[in-house]
Order: sequence, then C-alpha cells, then structure tokens
Amino acid sequence: AFQVHCRYMRGIGAVSGGAVLATFMDVTHLEQASQMRRDFVANVSHELRTPLTALMGFIETLQGPAKDDAAARDRFLKIMTSEANRMNRLVGDLLSLNRVESEERIRPRQQIELIELLHVTLETLRPLADDAGVSLTLSAPDNPVRLPGDNDQLRQVFTNLVENAIKYGGSGGSVDVQVSVSDQDTAIRGPAARVRVIDKGPGIDPVHLPRLTERFYRADSHRSRELGGTGLGLAIVKHIINRHRGRLRVESDLGKGAVFTVILPM
Ligand code: ADP
Repeated sequence: AFQVHCRYMRGIGAVSGGAVLATFMDVTHLEQASQMRRDFVANVSHELRTPLTALMGFIETLQGPAKDDAAARDRFLKIMTSEANRMNRLVGDLLSLNRVESEERIRPRQQIELIELLHVTLETLRPLADDAGVSLTLSAPDNPVRLPGDNDQLRQVFTNLVENAIKYGGSGGSVDVQVSVSDQDTAIRGPAARVRVIDKGPGIDPVHLPRLTERFYRADSHRSRELGGTGLGLAIVKHIINRHRGRLRVESDLGKGAVFTVILPM
C-alpha cells in the first residue's frame, strides 16, 4: 500500500497534508476491494468451468463414439451426475455466501437453544458419519443453553464444521462435539458458549490456518475436490459467526487432527 501511495504522489507532483494522504489511502482500499472482486469472479468462473467442461466432453462422447455402448453410457452418466451435483453445490454455496454476507450487519433477534440445535444437527449428519464409519458424539451440559442467534444459520455453521470433520477426519475415526459455558469467556469478555468440533484426522499444516476461512482457500486442494468440497464452507461459517459477534478458532497440526471452536456470546 505504501508503494502505491508513493507512486500516486509522484504522479501528481506536490502533495502535502493529512487529508490528501487519507484520500490516497481510500483509493488503495478501493483498488484492493476491486482486485478482490476480480479474483472472486475469476475463481467462480474457474470452479464452474471445470465441471462444465467435463460435462460437455461426456455429452460429445455420448453423441459419438459411445453412442451404442450401453456400459460406457451408464458409466458416463454416473460421472455426469456427480459433476452436475458439484455445480449444484457450488451454486448453492454461492447463494448462501451472498445471503449471509448481506445479513452480516443485522443482529439476530431469535433466542435459540444451543444443545437442542446441536442434537438436531448431529442426527441429520449421522447417516453420513455411519457411511464413513465415523463415530459421532455430543458432550454437553444438562441444562439448556440459550443465546441470541439465527437458528438456520447456526445449524449451517455446525453442519459445515461437523461435515468437514467427518469428511477430512477419515474413515474409522471419531468426531466429538463438546459444549461448555462460561460466565466470563476470555475471548468474548463476557458470558459465552463454546462448541468444539474435534476430529482425529490428518490435520492441517499450520501455515494454512490464517487463510482457511478465505473463499476458495483449500489446505489440501486435491482432497477437497475429491471429496466434493466447494472451498466456501468455512467462508460461510465465518460470516455467520461475525453476525453473531462470535469467534472461530482453529487449532491443528499435521497428523494431530483438528479442533474448530465456535465461541458465541450469550
Ligand atoms: P471445502 O469445501 O474444500 O471443504 P471449506 O471452506 O469447508 O472448503 O474448508 C477449507 C479447507 O480447510 C478444506 O479444503 C480443507 O483443506 C481444510 N479443512 C477444513 N476442515 C478440515 C478438517 N477437519 N481436517 C482437515 N482439513 C480441513
């Protein structure tokens, strides 16, 4: 940013005073915002084009060389369905991202009960965990935990985190969801609930941790694509937690599993 200021300053000759410098800072900020927008559009186009190119290739093959080959047709249709599903997931996540971003400044008005919400979320994900041979447990206080929140959005947060833990945690593993409550949470400086989603999978190299919630950022790109990930799940999670004035913490290391902690003010 500093270099940009200097270049502009040199370009127009004499510059002095804080007000003028402030204007340049705004320009830099706008430049960054529009660069981010361009990067986002380029990423979306690339992510959509990959399955689209595959679909077009298979359509062509089905119209030509594989026209009368029933076995090949079945095989190709399976792959085409999976590519179409990938596009569908991506569009769904883009719409979610758009919605949560636009609602980020609107304080949630509902009162939700966190333990019940987590029970429902985990039951919905149990078939996925069973298929992956992953055991899924919830440890929570007996008393209800009420806090201001958006029910659907918080379900989306925990669905994304637990789904990731199941997906990346690997088969035969375990995913634990632990809830605790504190009158004086150190991160929030007030009463808060903490939900920890813990897996014992391959973990994440710490170099990736600071960027994990960026759109389309993947720690292991190959694995994410193989598992059908869109690269948007944690970006959606981050916006929803911001809306709730909460915090997201990630602790992980290679070979040591991962712990995603959501801290929500009560
Ligand atoms: P994706 O759709 O790729 O899963 P996310 O935004 O949900 O996108 O996650 C971003 C990246 O963080 C993933 O691509 C993956 O590399 C990494 N990640 C998320 N959760 C875990 C986890 N529990 N264990 C290991 N890596 C994870």
